Amino acid sequence: MKTLVLNAGYEPMSVVSFKRAVVLVLTGKAAVVQSDDAVPIRSESLELDRPSVIILTRYVKPPRNRRVMLSRRGVLRRDGHLCAYCGAHATTIDHVLPRSRGGQNTWTNLVACCRACNCRKSNRTPEEMRWKLRFTPAPPRVGRFWLREIDEPVEEWRPFLVPDGQRSGRAAVTTTSAAVSAPAA
Ligand SMILES: [Zn+2]
Repeated sequence: MKTLVLNAGYEPMSVVSFKRAVVLVLTGKAAVVQSDDAVPIRSESLELDRPSVIILTRYVKPPRNRRVMLSRRGVLRRDGHLCAYCGAHATTIDHVLPRSRGGQNTWTNLVACCRACNCRKSNRTPEEMRWKLRFTPAPPRVGRFWLREIDEPVEEWRPFLVPDGQRSGRAAVTTTSAAVSAPAA
């Protein structure tokens, strides 16, 4: 079971193991926003609900300059699974400057590409095809990318995963640390 970590401003930051989440809560670094009371954690000295969403008590400045590791999946995500040339659904990756002509594996030289465009383009450059890139490929920013890194969001996380500006369920959320209860000695 995983726990979604929200920054103090409610921005989803990362996903951690629930054990890590428990440590963050017990050390006062985070408070429980939502917990799964169906499966409480019990130990000899402690009983608490499994936190499914926690919020940091202090705002952490997102590391905007941290580099996101290059991956095929990452390129597809960055480009929204849309072909950089025609905008159709993309399942492949294209080297803008083909590898055979010195094109590197970099965020700026890789784009999402549909199969049709990939086949047609082959070892040519966009200029030779008289194609235009729909955008200038760049490394993704960590802050924005984090959200997309969550591959299989737990249903309960969905209210927290709506992109900025569209979040509506916030008022309904009450932050509580009461879910962490001391043992009944
Ligand atoms: Zn295409």
